[in-house]
Amino acid sequence: MSRLPQQRFAVAGAGLLGRLVAWRLLRDGHAVTLYDAGDLDTPPAAAWTAAGMVAPLAETVVSERCVYDMGRMALTRWPEWLAELEAPGLWHPHGSLVVAHPQDEGELTQFRRELDDALGAPARYRPLSGADLQALEPDLAEGFRHGLFLEEEAHLDNRELLARLLAAIRELGGECYAHTPVETRPGEVESAAGRRTFDRVIDCRGHGARPRHPTLRGVRGETLQVHTEEVRLSRPVRLMHPRYQLYVVPKPDGRFVVGATSIESEDRSPISLQSSLELSSVLYTLSPAFAEARVLEQGVNLRPAFRDNLPHVTHRDGLTSANGLFRHGYLLAPAVVDHLLAEVRGAGERPFAAVLAETAPEESAS
Ligand SMILES: Cc1cc2nc3c(=O)[nH]c(=O)nc-3n(C[C@H](O)[C@H](O)[C@H](O)COP(=O)(O)OP(=O)(O)OC[C@H]3O[C@@H](n4cnc5c(N)ncnc54)[C@H](O)[C@@H]3O)c2cc1C
Repeated sequence: MSRLPQQRFAVAGAGLLGRLVAWRLLRDGHAVTLYDAGDLDTPPAAAWTAAGMVAPLAETVVSERCVYDMGRMALTRWPEWLAELEAPGLWHPHGSLVVAHPQDEGELTQFRRELDDALGAPARYRPLSGADLQALEPDLAEGFRHGLFLEEEAHLDNRELLARLLAAIRELGGECYAHTPVETRPGEVESAAGRRTFDRVIDCRGHGARPRHPTLRGVRGETLQVHTEEVRLSRPVRLMHPRYQLYVVPKPDGRFVVGATSIESEDRSPISLQSSLELSSVLYTLSPAFAEARVLEQGVNLRPAFRDNLPHVTHRDGLTSANGLFRHGYLLAPAVVDHLLAEVRGAGERPFAAVLAETAPEESAS
C-alpha cells in the first residue's frame, strides 16, 4: 500500500479516543503531538474510571440498534489491536452474566424481553439455572436461581491498555505533553505556552470539549475499586434490581470494579453515601466473601454525551472532532477510530458513516 505523505497532527486529549487515534496515526507514519490537561499515567479521563466492558448485547437494551452493530465490530477489532500492541492478554472474551435475586426475577424477565425486542428472538444469550451459574462462577452466592449468559461479550483491562497505548505512542516517536490544557482551532492548538500550528488538529477532549460543543453534557458515573483474594470471577456480572442495574468487573491482581451509577449531573465531587452503599451491597450480595474486600478507591467521572447519546465525528478544514461516546467508549471506539482515520486518509470505506458523520444535534457553529 502506498503511503500518504507524512503530515503533522495534534491530538487534544489523551483519554481513550486520543490515545487510540495518536497511536494509529503514528503507525501510518505521521508525526503526532498529544496533549492532555492532566497526568498521563493516572489520567483524569473517563477511560481511566471506566469498567472496560465491551457489552453490545446488554447495552442494546438501553441504546439504539446501531450501538449493537458498532459494538459487534469492537469484538473483532480489539483483539487485532491488542495483538499489534503485543498485549493480547488484556482481552477477556468470556462473555458476561446477568442475574437477579429470587424476589427480583421479574427484572431479569423484563431484561430478556427487551433484548428479544431489540434484536429479534431468539436473541444471542443462554438462559442459565442456578447450577449453571455455579458451574460458570463458583464464587457467586448460591441463592441465584436463574441468569442469562451473554456469551459474545468481553471485557478488557482498560488501565493497562491506556498504559500500553502511551508506551507505544512514545516508542513511535509521539511527542506527549501532560498538564497542558489546550484550545483547538483548525490547524492550530493554543496552550499556556502559546499557539502552535499543525496540518490537522484532532479534538478528543471528551467532556473537556464542552466549549466547542455547548450542549455536550456530562453524565456522572460513580464506581468503587476493591481488592480481595477471596473471590474469583472470570467475567462481568450484572445485577438486575428494581432501583438500579449495577455490575462487577474483574481486574488483574484481585481487583474488582463495581459500578456504575448514571446520574444526569456534571458534579465531580466524591461519591455519595447512598451510591457507595448501593455499590457495596451489590458486591456483598453477589458474594458475601466480598465483605472483607479492601476499598482501594472511589471513582467519579463524566461520560461525554450528545443529546442523542451517540458518538459523532465532524470535519472542518484542519480540525476533526470526535466525541459523545457516552457510556460506550470501549464498545464504540473501534468504529469511531476506523471511521475517523478513513476520513483523514481520504481513502477507503468510512464505517458507520450514516451515524458517525451525522452532525451532532447541538454541534456548535464556532
Ligand atoms: C464510571 C464509568 C464507567 C464506564 N464504563 C464503561 C464500560 O464498561 N464500557 C465502555 O464501553 N465505556 C464505559 N464508560 C465510558 C467511557 O469511559 C467513555 O465513553 C470514554 O472514556 C470516552 O472517551 P474519550 O476519549 O472521548 O474521553 P475521555 O476518556 O474522558 O478522555 C478525554 C481526555 O481529554 C482530556 N482533556 C479534557 N480537556 C482538555 C483540554 N482542554 N486540553 C487537553 N486535554 C483535555 C482529559 O483530561 C481526558 O484525559 C464508562 C464511563 C464511566 C464514567
